[in-house]
Amino acid sequence: MKFHEMNETEVEQVLHTDSKAGLTTDEVNKRRKQYGYNELEEGEKQSALLLFFSQFKDFMVLVLLAATLISGLLGEYIDAIAIIAIVIINGLLGFFQERKAEKSLAALKELSSPQVHVLRDREWIKIPSKEVVVGDIIKFTSGDRIGADVRIIESNSLEVEESALTGESLPVSKTTDLLRSANTGIGDMENMAFMGTLVTRGSGVGVVVAIGMKTAMGQIADLLQKAETMTTPLQRRLEQLGKILITVALLLTVLVVAVGVLQGHDLYTMFLAGVSLAVAAIPEGLPAIVTVALSLGVQRMIKQRAIVRKLPAVETLGCASVICSDKTGTMTQNKMTVTHLWSGGKEWRVDGVGYEPRGSFFRNEHQVELKNEKPLQQLLMFGMLCNHSEIKQKDNEYFIDGDPTEGALLVAAMKAGYNRSTLLNQYQIIKEFPFDSIRKMMSIVVKDKHGKQFVVTKGAPDVLAEVCGSILWDEKRQYMSREITSKIQSAIEGLASQALRTIAIGFKEIPANIVILHEKEAEKDLTFIGLQGMIDPPRPEVKDAVKECKEAGIKTIMITGDHVITAKAIAKQLGILTNTSKVLDGKALSEMTIDELENVVDDVSVFARVSPEHKLKIVKALQNNGHIVAMTGDGVNDAPAIKAADIGVAMGITGTDVAKEASALVLLDDNFATIKAAIKEGRNIYENIRKFIRYLLASNVGEILVMLFAMLLGYPLPLIPIQILWVNLVTDGLPAMALGLDQPEDDVMKRKPRNPREGVFARGLGWKVVSRGFLIGIVTLIAFIIVYKANPDKLEYAQTIAFSTLVLAQLIHVFDCRSEKSVFARNPFGNKYLVWAVISSLLLLFIVIYYPPLQPIFHTVPVELKDWFMISGLAAVPTFLLAGSFLARKRK
Ligand code: ATP
Repeated sequence: MKFHEMNETEVEQVLHTDSKAGLTTDEVNKRRKQYGYNELEEGEKQSALLLFFSQFKDFMVLVLLAATLISGLLGEYIDAIAIIAIVIINGLLGFFQERKAEKSLAALKELSSPQVHVLRDREWIKIPSKEVVVGDIIKFTSGDRIGADVRIIESNSLEVEESALTGESLPVSKTTDLLRSANTGIGDMENMAFMGTLVTRGSGVGVVVAIGMKTAMGQIADLLQKAETMTTPLQRRLEQLGKILITVALLLTVLVVAVGVLQGHDLYTMFLAGVSLAVAAIPEGLPAIVTVALSLGVQRMIKQRAIVRKLPAVETLGCASVICSDKTGTMTQNKMTVTHLWSGGKEWRVDGVGYEPRGSFFRNEHQVELKNEKPLQQLLMFGMLCNHSEIKQKDNEYFIDGDPTEGALLVAAMKAGYNRSTLLNQYQIIKEFPFDSIRKMMSIVVKDKHGKQFVVTKGAPDVLAEVCGSILWDEKRQYMSREITSKIQSAIEGLASQALRTIAIGFKEIPANIVILHEKEAEKDLTFIGLQGMIDPPRPEVKDAVKECKEAGIKTIMITGDHVITAKAIAKQLGILTNTSKVLDGKALSEMTIDELENVVDDVSVFARVSPEHKLKIVKALQNNGHIVAMTGDGVNDAPAIKAADIGVAMGITGTDVAKEASALVLLDDNFATIKAAIKEGRNIYENIRKFIRYLLASNVGEILVMLFAMLLGYPLPLIPIQILWVNLVTDGLPAMALGLDQPEDDVMKRKPRNPREGVFARGLGWKVVSRGFLIGIVTLIAFIIVYKANPDKLEYAQTIAFSTLVLAQLIHVFDCRSEKSVFARNPFGNKYLVWAVISSLLLLFIVIYYPPLQPIFHTVPVELKDWFMISGLAAVPTFLLAGSFLARKRK
């Protein structure tokens, strides 16, 4: 018999489990040993060896290796071995960089892997989906991706979208009923849910019947192919640019070789020099270094509690001009405490701290006895009954397992002495219609001991009031007159204006023989009982974050399902709502066309009482107005807006799997301030990439030009191949990487967001590359000519001088690259990685020059002290000549 043909008890027997208690830890360990982890096997990974060899597949590197081999055969052993050694070290460097990038991306994937709610040893706990075993009892609610194949044993309006398996994109209703037909296909198994499918509505509980490769998903082999790696816009732009640069570098190299040969140098020497120059000057590794810089930036973001799920987001973050953020939990602490209650014209206050269920009730500042306050009792009791959360205690601390709004209602009722288990003995819950942010209500159907049936509903007060036909006023049921409606309205506004989040409770009795199947039948003709108002204090760091964003040219918009007045009050406290900005509510938003919204959206800073669907409209309107939008969300219905936004942001704690999957960024702490931190890091990463592009390209321009000019002027080669390759490896390598780790400039959050269409060489970068590169080439040439002219028979000495000048000029220039403004704009030694990189490059330079065993390999000669004065003076020129104008401007 298959699982769908068994009832709950049969499933329990076959799988040796207990749906009320779950498995024990011992049993779980046993089963895991036997059946392994709940994982799908990944496709083949590239082996380390293959990755290493892929570093040498570059055409010019192959030509260089071939040329070196020839020179080896011709007897130039030392040169050949040295060149090959350098090429291999270069390859190793590339290999380790790529491995690092790969590893950090894999670690990221691990971090954002889904969690499952499982019943173990009678406790509901959250574990990584990987650790689920057959026989586990798991529960899921809307927005979850189901972690294994399950036989459903509880369903509350459960709907699952199974397109990943069946191709059918419409959600299917799931029940617990027995299916008898033996050949039921996946699409028809209404009492089963499968790994990888998506809960779009309601909630449910199931017994795990298959894990890992044994699941329906595991059996579809082609789904398991590796996800393609994503490239960012900058990487693509650099790839295109790379092609142009390769052509230019090759043409110039050919020119160098041609001029050299025409000037009488022998073809073989010129060929080897040309190939070495091409290898050094072609920035073939740029996209790879960019990946490394991006992934290192991603690691830094993790430290700031933001996980980047899509690499391109790192770049887009720096362009963000609007952040649309949820209020509850993102801007506020989501630590709710009921402080005010209202029923039938009476108001109570309740005190107490946090979630500890201890506090007293007051009316008109006098403590009240609960037994004398019937309406208050009902309000509290139904708030506890129509609830899906639990208050738990650990190390003497109370905490909420579930929705904090519901937790607050539980705590308030506990303060009055109510106990949920006792209540559940009096009232049996027969049906539940879970909360969703479109209806903004939740309902249950209960039966009491005498067989009477009731519907209890809680929800947003203004919405609930609309479905109430009567109200309990002075313990009597009264018709909802216009006068009473306006009294309710002012009670709601009274609470909301104190920044309280409000929940209303209503109920109705229904005939005992009626079965309510749909929420629409439940949520009508109710009797309004009253209101509970809860505080949810703003997160203390958000106000400053909003201010910092404003200075950075980024507007913050609050989007919330909460009441307009509550939203306004909090937005004011946080500095989001100012005298000039506007508030728009869901109703007005629904009535607007997208064009109308575009006209006003730039002035709106709070959207209240909105539904998740509205978010998509807001994103579109902002984008049409030219904004780059970051949008937060947590539920299933938020996913389309998160996907459509330029940067979709999901909540790590309260977010559903769907929201996370749609997002580019996940906030581990659900905190608005983390978005700001990620934007700052995003801006910095981009600036750092610009810094090393500038450094590397200016160096390459210098290297090519010194050779070209020397040939044109009829001089011997100022640098020999091995020296060029050494510069490429040492001088270009380490400092460039250190630039990738640079700290942001002070004003990184004072500038306007970057234009996403800006090219690689925008904002003067192209000029900087060419001018500095030109100067580096010129000073190297001057140093060479001076020494060569003085002693034409000591060519190796002149070449060593040129080599040293080139290296030093680059190592000084690297400090200039730290700032967009000038080398004087910030402490040049502020980046300790860079200082160490430069010191090691210098040491390596001295070793190559002064360590006798290396001299024949690098064809170097010890440089005399007096010449170092000339070298240093000339090497400083490219950086300081053009920095003078900055100082002059500053003085003005
Ligand atoms: P944000 O989008 O800022 O997170 P929110 O959490 O306030 O806003 P919703 O969760 O959609 O938005 O809640 C909207 C309203 O629904 C709340 O103001 C509250 O009155 C009501 N509400 C919230 N949670 C529940 C719940 N669990 N049961 C019943 N009503 C609820």
